[in-house]
Amino acid sequence: MRKSSVDGFKAWAAKAISFPGIDESMLTMKLNIWFASMGSAFAISAMTLLGYLLDLPVIVNYGFALLSLTFPALIILPFLRKNIDRFFFSIQFTLIWVTFYFMIIMGGLLTSAGLLFSGISVLFMSTSYQNNRLTVILFVTYLTTLITTALLQPRLSPLPEMTSQKNLLFFTVNFSWQAGYTLLLILNNISQKKKLADSKQAETLRLKELDETKTKLFTNITHEFRTPLTIILGMARLIKEKPAEWIDEGTEKIRKNAQNLLHLVNQMLDLSKLEAGAMPLHLFQQDIILQLRYLCESFSSMALSKNIRLIFKPEMEHLLLDYDADKMMHIVTNLLSNAIKFTKEGGLVQLTTGLSSQKNDEFFIRVQDNGSGIPEEHLPHIFERFYRIEEDSAQYENGTGLGLALTKELVKLMNGNIIAESPPGEGSVFTVLLPVSNNALMKEMNWLSGFKDEINSHRQEIHAKIKSESSELYDVETERPILLIVEDSPDLVDYLTAILKKDYHLEIASNGNEGLRKAMEYIPDIILSDVMMPEMDGIAMLEKLKADQRTSHIPIVMLTAKADIASRLTGLERGADAYMAKPFNEEELRIRLRKLIELRNLLRLRYATMESLPVAENKAIAAEDHFITRVRGIMEANLDNDQFGIHELCSEIGMSRAQLYRKFKTLTDRTVNEYLLNFRLFKAKELLIKTDLNVSEVAFEVGFKNLSHFSRAFREEFGQNPSSLRK
Ligand code: ADP
Repeated sequence: MRKSSVDGFKAWAAKAISFPGIDESMLTMKLNIWFASMGSAFAISAMTLLGYLLDLPVIVNYGFALLSLTFPALIILPFLRKNIDRFFFSIQFTLIWVTFYFMIIMGGLLTSAGLLFSGISVLFMSTSYQNNRLTVILFVTYLTTLITTALLQPRLSPLPEMTSQKNLLFFTVNFSWQAGYTLLLILNNISQKKKLADSKQAETLRLKELDETKTKLFTNITHEFRTPLTIILGMARLIKEKPAEWIDEGTEKIRKNAQNLLHLVNQMLDLSKLEAGAMPLHLFQQDIILQLRYLCESFSSMALSKNIRLIFKPEMEHLLLDYDADKMMHIVTNLLSNAIKFTKEGGLVQLTTGLSSQKNDEFFIRVQDNGSGIPEEHLPHIFERFYRIEEDSAQYENGTGLGLALTKELVKLMNGNIIAESPPGEGSVFTVLLPVSNNALMKEMNWLSGFKDEINSHRQEIHAKIKSESSELYDVETERPILLIVEDSPDLVDYLTAILKKDYHLEIASNGNEGLRKAMEYIPDIILSDVMMPEMDGIAMLEKLKADQRTSHIPIVMLTAKADIASRLTGLERGADAYMAKPFNEEELRIRLRKLIELRNLLRLRYATMESLPVAENKAIAAEDHFITRVRGIMEANLDNDQFGIHELCSEIGMSRAQLYRKFKTLTDRTVNEYLLNFRLFKAKELLIKTDLNVSEVAFEVGFKNLSHFSRAFREEFGQNPSSLRK
């Protein structure tokens, strides 16, 4: 038999006799006993046949007796899960006594065809038990039968058919197979011992390697921390020594390096979370193509800044898939940023995606670049932590070497696979393969056609409400806040719509001009705008909105692809309220928007009383103070005019009724009429305290024609009668 077929047979046997939960030593024991039994059955059969051919019924009978013990054992063994040693012990014990019986009837030790050797194989076989007690019992039994047979010798007589030639023949045959069998057992024992030693050595080697990896990891971590920390400490020292010179550059460097550290720590935490199996997976059925398109677009300006062509090539326009969008963002972001990072000016980066041609139940995402590529010797290691290729200093790019390790773990978490290839001279190709399933909950994406109609009808509804004469009765608080998205990419709009439509009334504009027009029309609660857009870019729009009294209070979040865009904006009178770098995290965007909307509560608190306003902390608040002061000025000038109302205020202040209504509601949480009434009553109180005018004169002064109407309103506002202040 060739070695491979022996191994194949061994593997088959191991499979046949194992069971769930079986341990290595038990398996070895079972295997040894099984193989030994097979060998015995074979040898006994041969001996029986020989007995039959030589016309020796006693040998045939002995052979059948042994086979009737061996065959059932062979069959039962695979199913046995415990007490295997005891089971075999009882069989072998019987076998020794059966042999004893045949030795007696054949006339003693020397005339019984070498049956006395059977016991030796029994003893050898019993060494597999790993139970010394049983082996000793068998040995004592065997010895007892031998001695007893010897002692009984004088009373025994050999069988006539067992001639001395036949006896010699069987003696030799039995001894030979016994010797061969013993040799096999010894060889087997030696090879098992060697295997054990090898595996121990392998384990030692593995532990040593693990130790080395840990040390390397530790060295790497400390190095990665040391660099930014050195910069931070150095900058802090410089700022302290020469504040005027270093404050700007220094704080910026500190911020950037602290950010790097934070990123590093987050990545490491994510990695250990992933390894500990503690990273939750949020599978939803959603359109993966839509997200990939968005992610790709988010990198367009980074690619553009390096003059790299970034192409998105999906095989289909839409594909619903169970996957975790946040994890996907990390994966694709890492692959795309690496591809752009390691590709020279004028290069090409492609993101192709679709269903794998061999297996339709696999989805692939391929990021391919024609950049530096990865040398073959490094390829097997790039998914290791902190592994970076730094030999070519001209191509040295900063990074931590954690990105791909994290990416691989994330892909694994989604039951996928990631492969890196780098054909010499052709750049790198990273392929992520994900299983296709559609079992998770649907996360509705807006490309479902009904959605746009819904938005439109909402838009008309709001429009109608705002324009209607009774707009002051309309309580916006029961409605969702209005969010204006100014973005020229339809796909990004689709993506934003999908993730924000639940929490906001959305208004969409595709460039700065349209954004400006819609902002004026709807006075949204918050604006989310891209920076780079045709016609009028985000910065120009921001400048106009912040300078206009009607819209100056609206918080604006800028979506920027480049972090340095913030510095371009610092020159403006008033910047945006927040910047989000693309690609952004869905949850982070949501939180930013919500927090900014919540900030208006601070303004409401500020304008809740009619007292004169404290000095504003910043330009943004000063601008709103200016508006409120102006409104109060106009109201004061018209205090005694009972005909004065929202219509007059609008024309004086130069805002439409709807605009004024929305802005007022945001700043004061009150309608204009409510505010006007509060204002009149506040002034009345002032007059009552500071002047000698009587109640009806005061009522008249603040625009009340009806005295009882005035008294009731006053009581409701201050909890006391106006006349009580007079006394
Ligand atoms: P880093 O933060 O350093 O980018 P990664 O784990 O993302 O860490 O990548 C590990 C290393 O693999 C990188 O330092 C780089 O040498 C190599 N690498 C990754 N992607 C590419 C690519 N598209 N082209 C060439 N080299 C790459």
